[in-house]
Amino acid sequence: MDWLKELYSEVVVSYARDSRYRGRIENAIREKDMNESCGDEIELYVKVKDGRVEDASFEGVGCIVSQASAAILIKLIRGKTLEEVKEILENVGKMAAGRDFDEEKLGDLVVFSNISEIPQRSKCFLLAWSVLERIYDRIEREGSS
Ligand SMILES: [Zn+2]
Repeated sequence: MDWLKELYSEVVVSYARDSRYRGRIENAIREKDMNESCGDEIELYVKVKDGRVEDASFEGVGCIVSQASAAILIKLIRGKTLEEVKEILENVGKMAAGRDFDEEKLGDLVVFSNISEIPQRSKCFLLAWSVLERIYDRIEREGSS
C-alpha cells in the first residue's frame, strides 16, 4: 500500500515538526484531549473576532500523524470565518469516514485522504479535529468572547 509510505512522507513529517503552528495564545478559547491508545495529546487555542478565526495554535505531543494533523488544522483555520470552519469540519468528517469530500477545502490535509483504511491511525488523525469540534460547539453556544 503506497499511501502508507505517504503517511510518513516528508510533507507529514515537516508539518509535525513545524513550530509556526505551535504555541499558546493569551485569552483564546482552549480545549484539550488525548488519545490513550497512542499517548497523543493535543490542546488547541482559537481566538475568534467578528465571526472569524483571528488566530489559532496548538500544543501537543504524540505520534507524527496526530501532530501533523493538528498543524495542518491550524494552517487551515487561521483567518477563516466560522462558516468556513464548519465546512472544513464537515469535509474532514467525510474524509475520515471514507466518503467523497471537497478536496479544495482541505488543502494539504488530503495527504491523509486514505486514513479511514487504518482505524488505529484514524484516532490519531481525528484527535485535533474532535477538539476543534468542541471549540466550535462552545462558540455556537456561548459566543466567541
Ligand atoms: Zn497517535
